[in-house]
Amino acid sequence: MPPELLALSFTQLALTVFGFFAGMTLVSVAMGFAVERALSKSRKIFDLPLFEGQHRFELLGNAVFVVIATVTVTLALRAGVVRFGPSSALRSALTFYAMLLGFQVYYWFLHRAMHHRAIVHVHRWHHRSQVTTPLTGQSMSPFEALGWMGGYVGLPWLFSQVVPLSFWGWAGYVAFNVFGNLVGHANVEPTARVASSRSATLFANVFLYHSLHHARWNGHYSFQAALMDRIMGTEWGDWPALYERVAGGRPLTSLKERGDA
Ligand SMILES: [Zn+2]
Ligand SMILES: [Zn+2]
Repeated sequence: MPPELLALSFTQLALTVFGFFAGMTLVSVAMGFAVERALSKSRKIFDLPLFEGQHRFELLGNAVFVVIATVTVTLALRAGVVRFGPSSALRSALTFYAMLLGFQVYYWFLHRAMHHRAIVHVHRWHHRSQVTTPLTGQSMSPFEALGWMGGYVGLPWLFSQVVPLSFWGWAGYVAFNVFGNLVGHANVEPTARVASSRSATLFANVFLYHSLHHARWNGHYSFQAALMDRIMGTEWGDWPALYERVAGGRPLTSLKERGDA
């Protein structure tokens, strides 16, 4: 960990971590709404109303998420849970990409598990939003947020048992994760056609991909990229047709909408 952070008192560290999560959340949500506004006429995904009080409900979820992330990450940093080494450029890049890939694998299993009858109640908060907004990403129950902390803190703890990680590579990934999660729930499709092919979505999904998870429920469990769904057989075959429709300026008008597979 950088010496500046090591020198902080517990309260100062907690305030710094809170500033990080709250700041990333504010910037990402603002960006998400800006993208929604810019593309609302040309590339809306679902032309359906939000539920009554949805933004307020999702704001509460974001507050819960930021508090849980602040407490968990502060305690983990203070206790030295993750082993950090010097942040060379190579270590930072490798840490970032290990987190990027590791989180995708971790999240698919966490998410799939949360759709199991035994614990689905912890995931219902996130699914209350059938049409998503830039606030939906972190709108979740405290128990689901704790599951996410497994990815933010547990996963790097595990990796650092093998080799020390870069603090900045890790912090950079978490910032990227928060940003992608919030902006990625916007109800518009900014993805250019060239980046919407099946091979391109092995690296990054079109926005519609996860919107369909909220509309339909039992598939598309991946985070960020279709990679894990493709490996595990939980990808729907008709999303490219629906992408074409949305990119052509014709939003979906029912949650049950299907495309030609
Ligand atoms: Zn889900
Ligand atoms: Zn979601």
